[in-house]
Amino acid sequence: MKFSLVCLPVFLIASNSHLLGAELKTVDDFRAAAAKANALLMLPDWEQTPEAIEASMKDAIAKANKALDQIGAQDLGKVTFKSTVVALDDLTYQVGNAANKATIIKETNTNPAMRTAAENAVKAYQDWVVGIDYREDVYKAIKAFADTHPKLSGEDEKLMKETLRDYRRAGLDLPPDQRNEVEQLRKELSKLGTDFDTNIVKATAPVIFTKADLDGLPESFFAAPGVKTGDDAYTVMANVTWHFITVEENAKSETTRKQLYLVHDSLAKDANVPVLNQMLALRNKIALRLGYKSWDDFQTEIKMAKTGAIAKKYIDDLVTGIQPKFDSEVAELQKLKVAETNDPNAKIEVWDWRYYSNQRNKQKYAVDKEALRAYFPFQKVLDGMFNIYQSIFGLKFEKIAAPYKWIDDLQLFLVTDSATGEPLGMFYLDMFPREGKFNHFAQFDIISGKLLPDGKYQRPTVALLCNFPPPNGDTPSLMTHQDVETLFHEFGHALHSIVTRAKYGRFAGTHVPGDFVEAPSQMLQNWVWDKKVLDTFAADYRDPSKKIPGEIIKKMNDAKLANAGAYYRRQFAFASLDLALHEQHAEDGAYDCVAMSNPILEKVFLPIDPSTTFVSYFGHLNGYDAGYYGYAWADAIAADMATVFEKAKDGYLDKQAGMKLRREIYEAGDSREVNVSVEKFLGRKQSIQPFLKKIGIGPQEKKKAPAGPSQEGR
Ligand SMILES: [Zn+2]
Repeated sequence: MKFSLVCLPVFLIASNSHLLGAELKTVDDFRAAAAKANALLMLPDWEQTPEAIEASMKDAIAKANKALDQIGAQDLGKVTFKSTVVALDDLTYQVGNAANKATIIKETNTNPAMRTAAENAVKAYQDWVVGIDYREDVYKAIKAFADTHPKLSGEDEKLMKETLRDYRRAGLDLPPDQRNEVEQLRKELSKLGTDFDTNIVKATAPVIFTKADLDGLPESFFAAPGVKTGDDAYTVMANVTWHFITVEENAKSETTRKQLYLVHDSLAKDANVPVLNQMLALRNKIALRLGYKSWDDFQTEIKMAKTGAIAKKYIDDLVTGIQPKFDSEVAELQKLKVAETNDPNAKIEVWDWRYYSNQRNKQKYAVDKEALRAYFPFQKVLDGMFNIYQSIFGLKFEKIAAPYKWIDDLQLFLVTDSATGEPLGMFYLDMFPREGKFNHFAQFDIISGKLLPDGKYQRPTVALLCNFPPPNGDTPSLMTHQDVETLFHEFGHALHSIVTRAKYGRFAGTHVPGDFVEAPSQMLQNWVWDKKVLDTFAADYRDPSKKIPGEIIKKMNDAKLANAGAYYRRQFAFASLDLALHEQHAEDGAYDCVAMSNPILEKVFLPIDPSTTFVSYFGHLNGYDAGYYGYAWADAIAADMATVFEKAKDGYLDKQAGMKLRREIYEAGDSREVNVSVEKFLGRKQSIQPFLKKIGIGPQEKKKAPAGPSQEGR
């Protein structure tokens, strides 16, 4: 049995991840403690054959249909909260867990036939779930209950309100002819959305350059498969993101950078401009039919923002707030361009900023990212993160035996409250890449939290599916700093899920509004940029007495900050144009998506070429429509929330602040308004000032920006 050697005195709870298999407890060892807390622990009953997967999903859908029938068939004079609204949450929860399990199999199983069966099961679920809103018999029963004007409060009242809201948003409370029209419009919109996505995927644009045109690019680019296509001909695919970025960051020739930008920012122009115009008109029509004044109001109603106007004001305030930082960054890049081109009037264009940012970073902030990996051997990072999260959130993680493993190195952990010993849930770790596995990094719910009809609380089980660099011979898995940041982020989602106390599945864990769900995890990313935190676990694997030098951490932070103005102004430009496309619009007024968006790009970011059609290739406009603002929104809230730790005695390692996050944010989930939870956690109104400060708007500049009440709260 080995224990981590990098523990600080505050971390007395040692990680158990090195325990030998024979010594591991099982979930059964925790059943008594769970029963004492009136809670249930459950591991999924993992199917072992494709037939079993199919049968399991079929069975889950059949049970859900039966439950829907029961809701619909009851005597409308005798409806209760339990027999209507709660019954609906119960059945969607159960079938949702079945779909979660199929999703995990689809993303992780080593047998392609199992993955295919699971994929089909997930599809079957998705097809089925869209139909729930259109079960008129169920809606009638729920409506009949609502019409009794029941006196509900807290989470019950919220569940009732939001269930009715779902039906209203689906058009169920409209007269039949209008409802059918909305359904028809939605189908058309969905078809156009598919066309929009397909046109983006199909947009290929090879641009041929000579080696001289591409002077400045790394040799690895020229050697990449498919790039050298003739004696002095190099084919750059404008639609391949890493091709585009590599050229824009490195090509010394402005002509080259501009040429590629012109192609890139006009991708899918002919195909998608008309499609997007039709989509915007349809969305507007649907919003108007459903009684909203615009699509952004429809989309934001179920978010933290609540209205398009609030989202817009938030972004506008951020745009204004970072003006000084953006201006100073552009001025710095302009100096570099003036010096390089000997043109005193040189200006930074949209095809220049990546190149000159890269030049500046190389000159001022060069950090050897590869060498840094020696400080981040996977197991030490995992143990280190566990120690921190266990300590600040008052938790204990114990590795337990997994009765079924889809891979040998799958790990299962049980989480208990460290003060009371109450079991809170479990998580699986599947951390390294392999053929056929999900290829990103994410937390997946398997069994969500919920108060069951028998009064017991079902504790959650989740999985983290990641793709960290695998160990290589004698060398352990060495993570990049970004990998470490990702781990801290994703594990935050796992904790959000596991410690939940929400009564209803709909509100448990990470089932919070889309513009908030990332905020707590984005906040936790701060931890890995802090020397005090890093020193608790990051050490050279060849000589653990060596910590990351302070000047390197400072350089990394400076590099991140150096580009923050440009990075965010670009993000805000996308958020602004997305909201502008979806704001109030006359029903019979034609849309010109390019004329509506190009001036915003130029105003908020950098001058563009008028021939380009950025929006035709902006995939977020189908799926994140009137929602792109959410990225910046969550970032700003994350920075605001981080101040609670930053002002606390032990900073990011502060237990009181950690417990507050657990109680007010994680445990609450969406069981109350997220705005309320955030303000309870902050102990004050929300503010965008911490975000502005974080990206380098100092107190002096702050006075110049139009601060004051207009930027506080919302
Ligand atoms: Zn996330």
